[in-house]
Amino acid sequence: MAKIFRKIISIINEEVPFENETKQIFVILRLYSILISIYFLLFAFLSAFMGGTKVYILFLPWLALNILCFLATYRFHRRTVFHICSVATLSWILCFNVTMGWNCGVQHFMFPLLLISFFATYDNLKGKIIYTVLVFFLRISLYLYTRSHTPIIPLSDSMSVALQFLNTGVLFLIMFITCWFFSQTNQETQAKLFQYNEQLKRDASTDALTGLLNRRNMYDLLKTYTAFGSTRYFTIAMGDIDFFKHVNDTKGHDCGDAVLKTLSEFFRNYMEGKGTVCRWGGEEFFFLFPDINGDKASAYIGDLNVMIASLPITYKEETFHITMTFGVEEYDFSSSAEELIKRADDKLYLGKKQGRNTVIY
Ligand code: GH3
Ligand code: MG
Ligand code: MG
Repeated sequence: MAKIFRKIISIINEEVPFENETKQIFVILRLYSILISIYFLLFAFLSAFMGGTKVYILFLPWLALNILCFLATYRFHRRTVFHICSVATLSWILCFNVTMGWNCGVQHFMFPLLLISFFATYDNLKGKIIYTVLVFFLRISLYLYTRSHTPIIPLSDSMSVALQFLNTGVLFLIMFITCWFFSQTNQETQAKLFQYNEQLKRDASTDALTGLLNRRNMYDLLKTYTAFGSTRYFTIAMGDIDFFKHVNDTKGHDCGDAVLKTLSEFFRNYMEGKGTVCRWGGEEFFFLFPDINGDKASAYIGDLNVMIASLPITYKEETFHITMTFGVEEYDFSSSAEELIKRADDKLYLGKKQGRNTVIY
């Protein structure tokens, strides 16, 4: 039993052969066709066993058409399938209303059809309004027609009551399934958009290679620290890898990338609880020590510099070491972010001139 059930689910869930179309609307139209087919069978069953007029013969051609609608969902584009289902539904509504009168209640099936039409077609608003107006006039015309014409096959009272229950049940089920599916997609789309936005934010604020904060974001952060009236003290440090070009030239660019990643990971761990580090560009890194004065920050950077020199860097089973040079600058409560960076940079340059692998404060 469970096997058959799984098989049915997989048939309903089958993918569509069109790349630019999602299967969801096809799944809804398949479920719709199945429910309408069940509805026809129950309608026929009721009319056969509840006395009154036997109208079950009427259902056979519509049942066949409905099965064709189901099969169409595996062959045609969503628009075509919807139009086939739409014409089929409106035809049997028309036929039933004319044959059995307004009391048979099938005209209510226009509502789920309208609901599905809004999701099934990519038409603009104009197309949807035209479709809605058409269905509206069809319904009104049907009402006026059935008012002035006696049904060809009148329904017995008990049959009318039974149909009220059947119609309500099937209609609610179709509406529920359609709304549930579309609200699901809506939520899924929203969740995807949210994740995508988060990713975009991350991409915009982090460096792709190292995952560290990027220059622009660090610069923005620094601007808030040096904003007019800010009384928060802090220290910055600019660091640059020594002879990095040599690493690239002798060991390859990929090895250079591996060095940048290893160092970044090391910096990130080291700066935890002390401040923030960013990849300023190329093989330059920028450190921000909030609420830490120059003496303490330069001591931190001094320790870091010693650790870097002894940090084993492994790439393709080869282990080597690199060194760095740093320029440290304490905030003086008056300089701009640009001026501070320039001074840290000048000190770094001085350190390079003095032979590298050093911290200048
Ligand atoms: P110095 O000690 O004076 O800083 O010498 P250096 O060789 O480190 O300095 P230079 O500015 O001459 O070279 C920096 C090199 O960093 C040049 C560039 O190819 C390399 N580089 C910049 N960004 C990347 C990167 O993302 N990956 C790799 N592998 N190399 C990079
Ligand atoms: Mg360098
Ligand atoms: Mg450099």
